[in-house]
Amino acid sequence: MSRTDDLQQRFQAFAGRPGRVAFAPGRINLIGEHTDYSGGFVLPASLALGTWTVAAARDDRKVRVLSEGQHETEVFALDIAPAAATKRWSDYVAGVAWALQQAGCKLRGADLLIASDVPMGSGLSSSAALEVSVAHALLAVAGASLSPLQIARVCQRAENEFVGARCGIMDQFAATHGESGRALMLDCADYSWKSAQLPAKHCWVVANTMVRHALAHGEYNVRRAESEELTAYMHRRIPQRTRLAELSIAETKELMSGLPATLASRLRHIVGENRRVHEAYAALDSGNVALLGQLLFASHGSLRTDYEVSCRELDILVDIAGAVPGVLGARMIGGGFGGCTLTLIEAQHVETLLAQLRLNYVQSTGREPATYICEFGGAGGMLA
Ligand code: ADP
Ligand code: MG
Repeated sequence: MSRTDDLQQRFQAFAGRPGRVAFAPGRINLIGEHTDYSGGFVLPASLALGTWTVAAARDDRKVRVLSEGQHETEVFALDIAPAAATKRWSDYVAGVAWALQQAGCKLRGADLLIASDVPMGSGLSSSAALEVSVAHALLAVAGASLSPLQIARVCQRAENEFVGARCGIMDQFAATHGESGRALMLDCADYSWKSAQLPAKHCWVVANTMVRHALAHGEYNVRRAESEELTAYMHRRIPQRTRLAELSIAETKELMSGLPATLASRLRHIVGENRRVHEAYAALDSGNVALLGQLLFASHGSLRTDYEVSCRELDILVDIAGAVPGVLGARMIGGGFGGCTLTLIEAQHVETLLAQLRLNYVQSTGREPATYICEFGGAGGMLA
């Protein structure tokens, strides 16, 4: 039975009538870490993993939603506001309903069944996959439509203002604009983008440290505040520049000379990482995988030393990968202080990598890393 038929059948059991099926993918960000919130560049690719939402209209103005794996069915009024957020997973769903209506969409009540194969909190963006699939489903049930960019912005707003998480636009953008087998270089300031083919004979492997250190959340907010401080400083010193991502090497050096050491290092990461996104895009476009790999290692070094968001477990995984034959590059991904790494490797060596990661990481930390070999997919939308 196809995945869609299987979901239809389970929806019939849940809601007693057939439904429409929406899908949205998770994503992997190849490079461009901690660049989005200062209006810089990122290079995500959408995955084959994703989240399905099956939906049928109701006659009242309620949304009843079951997410497989969550046990509880949640019910909320369509006319909900952020003040009614519950701090439960269903806030992501209610937030999308709220933000769609804020964007002028006339919604109908609905029964929703959600199923996903994106691991949660692993840097593969389960939250945006959920939001975008719910947005497609609610729009379909109401007979309404929005452009992919409008959907991405609505979903980001849901996460920022309803869930209360300060994410950039990247995850939602990848879920709405992904192209199969290609990476998107996105300018987070104006949403312009272009895509390049991913290398065919190489694999991208995600390895999970299985740790999340307590300082992750606080330090993320500190980095955001530092980047705002740096932007304000840049405006004062070089008024013609509108964002950190545009600074030349000479301008960066000049700015760094007037900054305390920590802020100077933060600036070096942001400017360098944006430059690496451009270089990585060019490397993809010209098929230069060796350069792509070097850029991943350089990104990790910068995140570890200048941005100071890595941790022992992430460094161990990157070091293990670096010693495996056929590995071109590796880096930490996501906010840092735990979470996952990403390794680029020649396809024929991937089994060796998985074995080495497991063996050596267990030896160093006593933990077994979860691993995932990326399979790429396209944008979200309606399947049935
Ligand atoms: P990431 O997006 O990197 O996976 P986040 O912390 O941004 O991590 O989002 C994870 C949260 O999103 C989960 O804790 C949960 O609340 C919600 N979520 C994501 N997918 C689902 C799902 N299929 N069902 C219920 N909640 C989900
Ligand atoms: Mg997320």
